[in-house]
Amino acid sequence: MSADAAGRDAVLDARIRVDRGGFALDAQLRVAAGETLAVMGPSGAGKSTLLGAIAGFTPLTAGTVQLGGRTVQDAAGVDVPPRERGVILLGQRARLFPHLSARDNIAFGMRAHGVRRADAGMRADAWLERVGLPGFGARRPARLSGGQQQRVALARALAVSPRVLLLDEPLTSLDPATADGIRSLLRDELAATGTTAVLATHDAADARALADRLIVLEHGGVTAEGAPDAVLGEPATPFIAAVASTLPGTDGSWQARVESAETSADGIRAHARTADGDLVELILPAGSPVTSGSTISIRPPAS
Ligand code: ADP
Repeated sequence: MSADAAGRDAVLDARIRVDRGGFALDAQLRVAAGETLAVMGPSGAGKSTLLGAIAGFTPLTAGTVQLGGRTVQDAAGVDVPPRERGVILLGQRARLFPHLSARDNIAFGMRAHGVRRADAGMRADAWLERVGLPGFGARRPARLSGGQQQRVALARALAVSPRVLLLDEPLTSLDPATADGIRSLLRDELAATGTTAVLATHDAADARALADRLIVLEHGGVTAEGAPDAVLGEPATPFIAAVASTLPGTDGSWQARVESAETSADGIRAHARTADGDLVELILPAGSPVTSGSTISIRPPAS
């Protein structure tokens, strides 16, 4: 198994080339155990193609894919089928089994991994709680919102401890408030489970909130790589500059959404969530026009 600069073993080590008519993807990536790597790029950059190649759905023109130290694809003809790679690909849509309840959707994956029926059901219920859906176990997908379906899909994926979880724009088709909730859930659960993940996104806020490291993919090639704040703070290309400028806080202030506001002896005690998913507690003067759901701007004190 190859090690990264910090000496950690790479769970995913890939060099991927896909030539397809006028489009050519050529990217190298290495992801350490427990790390979340964001692959950020504009539409058409090749993000889905890259994730598809790692999962085994997209044929490679050249290159190799190693997972957990094992070659699952190379030029010599090794090509391990997707279901044997230990990788799960979660897309914009949850793709749950429509005829199964939420509980059975989660249990199904565990059953396929050899977990006994009774255990799988109990663990599915525990996962439903973890993803904020206690009591929803009997519902079929058609009776769940898009965000709730994504929560079930995330539980189904994490419940089988994938070697690598591939997330292809999982928040894109959700409204902003729902996306905020799932972004926080993803951040918490990826950390709690120590899951190794690759997240494709066009959104700098997602990259900053979720990723330990970021690569930028443009026109099939990597144009920047590093810690999200470093890449976004010193944009190497016009695309990076454009997405970085959409981030809250670029004028020195932070935007946060108020989640609760109560009058207390000190004034108004509010909890607000930043775009990064951090919860901050604020004490504001009595009478401040702050209500749950409003957006506020927090400016750090001038130093
Ligand atoms: P992204 O996920 O960054 O939006 P994609 O990987 O979906 O980018 O697409 C990369 C390029 O490959 C684009 O030019 C797209 O039009 C093309 N492409 C994607 N899927 C297919 C396909 N099934 N057949 C042919 N071309 C495709």
